[in-house]
Amino acid sequence: MRPAVLGGTPAFDEPLPLIRPALPDDADLPARIGAVLDSGMITNAVEVRRFEQVTAEYLGVPNVVAVSNCTTGLMLLLRCLDVGGPVVVPSFTFIASGHAVRWNGLPVVFADSDPRTATIDPASVPDGGFSAILATHTYGSPCAVDELSARAEQAGAVLLFDAAHGFGARYPDGSMVGSKGLAEVFSLSPTKTLTTGEGGLVTTGDDELARQLRVARDYGNPGNYDSVLLGLNGRMTEIAALLGTAALPRFPGWLEQRHHLVERYVKSLAGVPGLSFQEIPAGAVSSYKDFTVRVGADFGLTRDELADCLRAERISTRAYFDPPLHRQTVYADVPAGPLPGTEELARTMITLPLSTRLAAAAVDRVCDAITRVHEHGTEIAQTLRRTE
Ligand SMILES: *Cc1c(COP(=O)(O)O)cnc(C)c1O
Repeated sequence: MRPAVLGGTPAFDEPLPLIRPALPDDADLPARIGAVLDSGMITNAVEVRRFEQVTAEYLGVPNVVAVSNCTTGLMLLLRCLDVGGPVVVPSFTFIASGHAVRWNGLPVVFADSDPRTATIDPASVPDGGFSAILATHTYGSPCAVDELSARAEQAGAVLLFDAAHGFGARYPDGSMVGSKGLAEVFSLSPTKTLTTGEGGLVTTGDDELARQLRVARDYGNPGNYDSVLLGLNGRMTEIAALLGTAALPRFPGWLEQRHHLVERYVKSLAGVPGLSFQEIPAGAVSSYKDFTVRVGADFGLTRDELADCLRAERISTRAYFDPPLHRQTVYADVPAGPLPGTEELARTMITLPLSTRLAAAAVDRVCDAITRVHEHGTEIAQTLRRTE
């Protein structure tokens, strides 16, 4: 069979989306939503409290503060901590990690990422001159937390995690992502492992910080309308919280399903020359928010060429994260030294379709399509590069 890019029949009749969110479908869910509507309390009330409680239990953390989204959670966190100085952020992350820093008027210092793990390289964190590290658990794989803690401590800085991808992941010591650093912030937007439509969770072991965050998400109003800090409206709605609470009992099964699908991908693609996979730290468990593959020189085509070929097969992919932050227009004024790991990741990583609702047969088809593309690599390269 010829690849679609060379005129063959596409692998899929209907476009295969990158992600289809998993949602609870309990028979009593409409009635429970109806009860919220009847109550007249539709934001930041009993359902939000309940959701905070069940997620705190699931994650094994003392405090969860639900917010309207992860970006707002990160912004409020930096505000409550009164960080003051520069914040070290990997350039290889999603836009929002850097934006949360900038919205607080704080300078961003870009660190490099390790091309094997795709997480921030602790060795690229400067020795000092910064107030916080905000590290991302890229694609759901935990950062090198011990090394980062040491770097932060040495610099007298706080360690925070953008855990947007990490709900359900575990550190090598078995504890859940959400339990390390001074605080971690999850995203519950539709592309993440657990979704409430829009939403975020801030987790912290610091009771006083949790208390401040609850005030901050309500404009900084402690209850008497004499605002004590420059907060925002960062509240979660009751229906979002209800969706989260209903989804949580299903979540471990969903996570298991993601792991099965990733195993299936890895088994099929391991033999394809040039393809390699994100290294998960020994003993850690990824949430596999994304399944992302590195396209090396031996594949015979570039990552972008592979993406073009898969588009012709009606398979959606993403180049997470290209361009990385330090090459985005809004960060053009941030001085950045060479970030070779970041550049390599940005040039070579391709995210393949993965979600709980993805059929095993669809994974096989994607793998077959990739294999076919590789086998016709020389011919495809000639065709694509000729028309450029
Ligand atoms: C999705 C994402 C965010 C933003 O989450 P929202 O809930 O949409 O604000 C932040 N950081 C990373 C790494 C993300 O992938």
